[in-house]
Amino acid sequence: MPVATQNAQAGPSRHRNRQELSQQQDGSDDERLQKPQVLAEEGWTIETFTDLPVVKTLPTLAFIAGLVGKCKELITRIEEGMEKAMAAATLIEEASPDHEMLEQFEKEFRSGIERKQQMLIKIQVLESMHMQLRQNQDLDNPMGFYKQETARREQEYRGKTLRQKFKEDQDYINFRTAIWEVNHEGTAGPPTTAYLPREDEDGSDDEEIEVGMQTQNFRCPITLRPYVNAVTCVDCKHSYSKDAIMSILSNGRKRSVKCPFSGCNTAVTATKLQPDKELQRKTDAFVRRQAEREAREAEDDED
Ligand SMILES: [Zn+2]
Repeated sequence: MPVATQNAQAGPSRHRNRQELSQQQDGSDDERLQKPQVLAEEGWTIETFTDLPVVKTLPTLAFIAGLVGKCKELITRIEEGMEKAMAAATLIEEASPDHEMLEQFEKEFRSGIERKQQMLIKIQVLESMHMQLRQNQDLDNPMGFYKQETARREQEYRGKTLRQKFKEDQDYINFRTAIWEVNHEGTAGPPTTAYLPREDEDGSDDEEIEVGMQTQNFRCPITLRPYVNAVTCVDCKHSYSKDAIMSILSNGRKRSVKCPFSGCNTAVTATKLQPDKELQRKTDAFVRRQAEREAREAEDDED
């Protein structure tokens, strides 16, 4: 909701505040930053952050930025839980494909996505407040704005169908892809809608924009063998075994080489390469599964 609407709703009790505010506004920007309204020092928290007009001051901006930081910390913790649920789900799929316990971990993972979305909504609202202050728009009722705006967006999210929430959600796609990859390495899986029942609110044009799962390949494009110390180019997101790409780069004493992935013309340099622990972990799991499969097949042959 724009701040102007908030102003219109402000009651008489705010007139005094507005007068104080306009007096403060006579000062230059620099003066306002030098003599900030003391907020954090007076024990301001999100709960006491109410009914006072807030103008752009360094403590206010720092306070809001601090809240955004807290939300981001919580997202990291939620993601840790989601990673555990995903790891458990892939182990179950490995031991017993389509086992009913998979459903339980999927629910857990989805609820992680929902909680993460709630935190992202809070961050969006806080960042919009931060932005308004930076543009010298005073916030008449910051807590009211924060509460109303987060509630409105959360309600909107809760009203979505499963498909609307998860069909194109990158975390959900990763989850489904990880499970698919357990038994179908290198092949594209079904679209996520295969796992998300259609609800009445889902339009009939839904099928047309289905997103197919693109499974990862666990082989380096240079060595054609499973990745060893996988690194990923920050520009094109293609990955290579570290020694392989580094030897191409330094053998010719070149600063950059064309990405070895066919069809990719990105100039790869050593500084663009980042270790990809997640890809390496998946590759190791893939190598282990493949070895186990071969051992089983060898046993079957003996029988
Ligand atoms: Zn590339």
